[in-house]
Amino acid sequence: MSVINYAMKFFSSASTATAACPVCGLKSVQPLSKVRLNQTMLCPGCKALFISRR
Ligand SMILES: [Zn+2]
Repeated sequence: MSVINYAMKFFSSASTATAACPVCGLKSVQPLSKVRLNQTMLCPGCKALFISRR
């Protein structure tokens, strides 16, 4: 079922969330899976690693 594979790939790449860096306050777009799984995200501004809490 290549259509389903394509759809899942599309949705996984399109699922993003905006996270604010706790160090410099810069908002950046991060993969939604990282936000949901509490994985560390890299701030593009100050290069700090942080975990989004909400
Ligand atoms: Zn930052």
